[in-house]
Amino acid sequence: MTDATRNAAFDLLTAVFERARPLEEALDALGPMEARDRAAGHRLAAAVLRRAGTLDAVLEPFLKKAPPAPVRSILRLGAAGLLLLDTPAHAAVATAVGLARARGLAPFAGLVNAVLRRVAEAGPAALEGLDSPRLDTPSWLWTAWGRDARAIAEAHQHEAPLDLTLAPGAAAPPGGTELPTGSWRYPPGTRVAELAGFAEGAFWVQDAAAALPARLLDARPGEAVADLCAAPGGKTAQLAAAGARVVAVERDAGRLVRLRENLARLRLEAETVCADAAAWQPPAPLDAVLLDAPCSATGTIRRHPDVAHLKRPRDVDLLAAGQDRLLDAACAMLRPGGRLVYAVCSLQPQEGAERVRAALQRLPLRSDPFTPAELAGVTAARTGEGWLRTTPALWPELGGMDGFFAARLHRT
Ligand code: SAM
Repeated sequence: MTDATRNAAFDLLTAVFERARPLEEALDALGPMEARDRAAGHRLAAAVLRRAGTLDAVLEPFLKKAPPAPVRSILRLGAAGLLLLDTPAHAAVATAVGLARARGLAPFAGLVNAVLRRVAEAGPAALEGLDSPRLDTPSWLWTAWGRDARAIAEAHQHEAPLDLTLAPGAAAPPGGTELPTGSWRYPPGTRVAELAGFAEGAFWVQDAAAALPARLLDARPGEAVADLCAAPGGKTAQLAAAGARVVAVERDAGRLVRLRENLARLRLEAETVCADAAAWQPPAPLDAVLLDAPCSATGTIRRHPDVAHLKRPRDVDLLAAGQDRLLDAACAMLRPGGRLVYAVCSLQPQEGAERVRAALQRLPLRSDPFTPAELAGVTAARTGEGWLRTTPALWPELGGMDGFFAARLHRT
């Protein structure tokens, strides 16, 4: 591990913990550096974010009082190196002390040295007896996940693999495994741009669970379909690949540029519109709508461990209100008999089943349950109402999947 890696990881942790910035945004804001160092810094910061509660529990007995936030980040980085990443003890301690000095925290260099030497002496035994899944999960999420909480939190301890959706007729790059739902999986840390066929548009990155909602909409050639909240376009690509006439609606102009670039790489076509999907109206009623609503993204914590630190219960309340507005708008876009798939990458019932139950009360919609055959490979994710609720604890032997909720509704 280089100093550049540790410096990048420190900057990323500072952005998340002290400025409440999303990790991806902080990555974009890092100065110019080698791609390798950037990727390694990202992985190191993600390891700390994933296991912050556990690392704090290890450090706690060696601290007389809570250290300032930047010092805590350095201690967490050092402890992660020692206990999670097998960094040699001398190097982990010395580089943490060096980082403290370099970041204007020289008065704390002695503390960093003393605490990390104690952690190094304890070694892996420091982790024994700790309930890591519980320590690494904020209490409000643990409560909201109910009896699934422990299994979900255990799955969050591990880095997620890379999943791809293949373009029609394309071959999978070497080194992957085909999953029961047809996605292809590669080991954690795989760099997508280095896989064979990337530039030629043979595939796009999409978690196995994220690939399900568009498939369950079952768009047919020539159908008029809207993909609402569309960037970066994974689901737009699926709908276009199915032969539908797709309009992708996205309100963030910068993200819409990325969507267009992705479609161009994949040689797929869709009309793109920069608009608020809650206000946009199609020129004529649509056959089908995919609403991948903005959500708390708690289903993606294993890919984005910052989410567990940044989201609050109040965010879920506000997002739920927005989801209702988008459901109202999506319903109004459909012709009678037209279908809507509502999806969120959230594990919170408030953003999933509760939104759909409320929409069924309020809007001219009826539920069209997914059949077990449609959910082949993920039948355990079928809810009593015939909706889909995947969690990271599904497919434990294959490396899990993101948490997603999806329901299919028909306009009456
Ligand atoms: N469907 C995308 C895919 O599969 O690649 C992922 C969508 S992601 C959940 C959220 C996206 O919705 C962001 O790009 C965000 O800018 C966009 N968004 C959020 N609120 C929106 C709104 N009211 N109208 C249109 N787009 C919105």
